[in-house]
Amino acid sequence: MSSTSTGYRIAVIPGDGIGTEVIPAALTVLKALADRFGFSLHFDHFDWSCRRYLETGRMMPGNGLDMISGHDAILLGAVGWPGVPDHVSLWGLLIPIRRGFRQYVNLRPIKVMEGLPGPLRGSEGVDFVVVRENVEGEYSEIGGRLNRGFPDEMAVQEAVFTRPGVTRIVDYAFKLAATRRGRLTSATKSNGIVHTMPFWDEIVRERAAEHPGVDWWQEHIDALAAKLVLTPGAYDVIVGSNLFGDILSDLAAAIAGGIGIAPSANINPERTFPSMFEPVHGSAPDIAGRGIANPAGALWSASLMLDHLGQADAARALLTGIERTLSDRTVRTPDLGGTATTQEMTEAVLAALPA
Ligand code: ATP
Ligand code: MG
Repeated sequence: MSSTSTGYRIAVIPGDGIGTEVIPAALTVLKALADRFGFSLHFDHFDWSCRRYLETGRMMPGNGLDMISGHDAILLGAVGWPGVPDHVSLWGLLIPIRRGFRQYVNLRPIKVMEGLPGPLRGSEGVDFVVVRENVEGEYSEIGGRLNRGFPDEMAVQEAVFTRPGVTRIVDYAFKLAATRRGRLTSATKSNGIVHTMPFWDEIVRERAAEHPGVDWWQEHIDALAAKLVLTPGAYDVIVGSNLFGDILSDLAAAIAGGIGIAPSANINPERTFPSMFEPVHGSAPDIAGRGIANPAGALWSASLMLDHLGQADAARALLTGIERTLSDRTVRTPDLGGTATTQEMTEAVLAALPA
């Protein structure tokens, strides 16, 4: 890597739709934080997107991964566009990056910020992280369709859980819990899924012995989903498989005030490859080009990136700026019931950064 101790090279992929609106907002705030906290950021832009796919037949160049493997982090907006099937953006960009760069941890922090719309408005102290397994599990290509066109037609889909794969995600979650409030919940369904889930549970139990300071328990995914709505304050870190983590993190984003706010990080904990930071939302074609996208999810993702780069003070300052802007209620985008533009909300966050 070509970074010095206080300089970072960031691969910036704005992508499609509102990705190209919220990423510039994030870069503006990142530059201000770098100046204030005394480090430097170098941004390399890549036009990898469905737009590019429609022009060239590829989301990214064949050697795309090589082009960004030496960067310190990747900041992604969103990829997806009407007329381009989801599997193109998924298999043409997101999955190659996640798998190629061994980003096996998907982090989705959830915080109920004061004054936000959402079903749990006003609930105090909701602050948890969903740790989703990001490269194996239920989303596998193994399986197929049999007896097509016959009355006994069937589809078979295999889930793949490996001992190293489960161990490393569970260890990551235990370690994360140890740095927070020391509580870990494992999402399971071993009463109905009788091979993979008992295997998952067994590994969680084994790894728990290595992390005696963490209070852990497991809950079946159905009950956990209900309890996340009823008593979200009870959770600190939740670890789940690829599918369970996917569902829980969207549920949790809705609890916390909507998809426009939710951040995510795809982490390669060994740091042998860059990690990738992206808002949870997609390209939002219905509002793209109007300058009214909520930049909070991209900004919060940028905060996760700063934290990962070792700039914890800058990361915390950015999160404070976002929280203050949201709870102040005067400058907010239409998805939160306001009339502000992306730029106005970005300026409000800049103004709300702690001195
Ligand atoms: P994609 O196929 O890229 O996922 P999508 O059509 O699923 O796109 P999403 O981006 O997932 O759209 O958004 C779902 C809904 O939430 C849309 O109505 C969109 O306008 C809204 N939305 C998403 N992100 C934001 C944001 N940052 N600000 C405001 N509204 C948003
Ligand atoms: Mg979507």
